[in-house]
Amino acid sequence: MATFGDKLRHCNRCGLSKTRHNVVIGRGSKTPKIMFIGEAPGRNEDLQGKPFVGRSGQLLEKAIGDLGIKSEDYYISNLVKCRPSVDEKDRHPKPDEIKACHYWLDKQLEHLKPLILIPLGKYATEYILGRPVSIMAIAGNKFKVGDFVVYPLIHPAAVLYNPNNQQVWARGLGNIYNEIRRVVEVKEKASQQTLF
Ligand code: URA
Repeated sequence: MATFGDKLRHCNRCGLSKTRHNVVIGRGSKTPKIMFIGEAPGRNEDLQGKPFVGRSGQLLEKAIGDLGIKSEDYYISNLVKCRPSVDEKDRHPKPDEIKACHYWLDKQLEHLKPLILIPLGKYATEYILGRPVSIMAIAGNKFKVGDFVVYPLIHPAAVLYNPNNQQVWARGLGNIYNEIRRVVEVKEKASQQTLF
């Protein structure tokens, strides 16, 4: 029987399937407590088949380290799994591409069952919250969506494009630090209890 990955790798629900090199499924723990959700793969991600491997990824990995999140506790994926581009440049995904693709993210959420979602940027945040947002205004705030606790952050690429956004990025990370530590530490305590 075809696995989730096989099905996704053969997806042709939208036109991005014609121009992609790789479907970018995700990377990280199979039992994550925290899931980071980006917008869509860029050029490097499309070529390597992994999310956040470029400069935005370096900034994200640094933040994950600063939050003290270990590799067994997180997973990274995107709202759209194939690279949107125009004239060889990355572009934002279109509404019909998001509509065609969110099925795969929904399945990942269902299977991986993270406790905390961290959508990165306006596109992923609007999908998860189900409404239009000003990402600059709500980054680092806490939301509840079904069983998920949601902490939107600005997209790391926004920090690279405009260094003034560094403050909003840092403020968001500061806001979520305590809750992230609490969730990760509860898990550490639970695993100690099963060990001894
Ligand atoms: N930006 C994203 O939103 N996702 C990636 O995987 C890389 C850059």
